[in-house]
Amino acid sequence: MTDLSTSAKNTWCPGCTNFVILAAFKNVLNDLITEGYSKDNFVMVAGIGCHGKIPDFVNINSFISLHGRDVATAEGIKIANLGLTVVSFAGDGDAYAEGIEHLVHAAKRNTNISLFVHNNQVFGLTTGQATPTSPKGYKGRSTPFGSPEEPFNPLLVVLAAGATFVARAWAMDPNGLRDIMKRAIKHKGFAIIDIIQPCITFADTREFYKDKIVPLGSDWPTNDLGKAMEKVRENSGPVPVGVFYEIDKPIFEDQI
Ligand code: SF4
Repeated sequence: MTDLSTSAKNTWCPGCTNFVILAAFKNVLNDLITEGYSKDNFVMVAGIGCHGKIPDFVNINSFISLHGRDVATAEGIKIANLGLTVVSFAGDGDAYAEGIEHLVHAAKRNTNISLFVHNNQVFGLTTGQATPTSPKGYKGRSTPFGSPEEPFNPLLVVLAAGATFVARAWAMDPNGLRDIMKRAIKHKGFAIIDIIQPCITFADTREFYKDKIVPLGSDWPTNDLGKAMEKVRENSGPVPVGVFYEIDKPIFEDQI
C-alpha cells in the first residue's frame, strides 16, 4: 500500500461527502499502482471550489487551476507529456458554468484524460449560490425566492459533444465510485463521471436521493448514442448510476 497522505490540514465541513470521493480516489491510485501504473506519472488537476482542495490531500503531482479552467489545463498537461495519466477534478460550477466551453471541446476532441465532477448542485465554497445543476426552486444566497431555472443535464451535453466514456456515480457509495473511477482512468479517450454529491451544509440531498439511486443493469454501458442519451434524460423516478456509454474512437493526441 502506497502512502498517499499529506500533512495538509483538511478544512472541508465535517461529514462532507468530499471525504468519500477523496478516499475512493486514493483507493483507485493504490489499485492502479499495484497493477503497475507509476505513482510519479499521475497528475491530478483541480479547479476552484470546495473540491479544489482535493490535491492538497493526495501525495502525487498536482496543479490547482483557475475557476473553470481545470479541463483545459489537464488537456495541456496531457498533450505536453503523453506518458502522464491525467485526472481532473471539478465542481459543477467549474465544469458546467465557467468551464462549459472547455468541457464541450475536450469531449469533442476526445483528449485522453478523465474528469471527475463533484456535482453538489450548489456553489458551496462561496456559501450557497445556485449553479447550472441546482434544482428548480432551489433557495440560496443568489436565489432567495427559489431558482426559476430548470437544471442543466451535463451528461446529455457531453454525449452530444462526443465524449467516449460517460458515467454517473453517487458520492455516498465508495465502492461504486472506486469501480467507476478506475474504469474511467483506464478508458482511452475523454472520460467523465458526474458524481452526484450531497453538500451537507448548503444542499443536503442525502434523503432525496437515498431511495432513488439504482445501479445500471448488466446490459450497460452501451455503444448506442441514442440509447445512452435517452437513459441520461430520465429525470423522474429512479436515478441510475454506472457507466452509460463507452466507445473506442481515435484520441486527439494521436492525431497531432
Ligand atoms: Fe462540503 Fe458543502 Fe462544506 Fe463544501 S460547503 S466542504 S461541499 S459540505
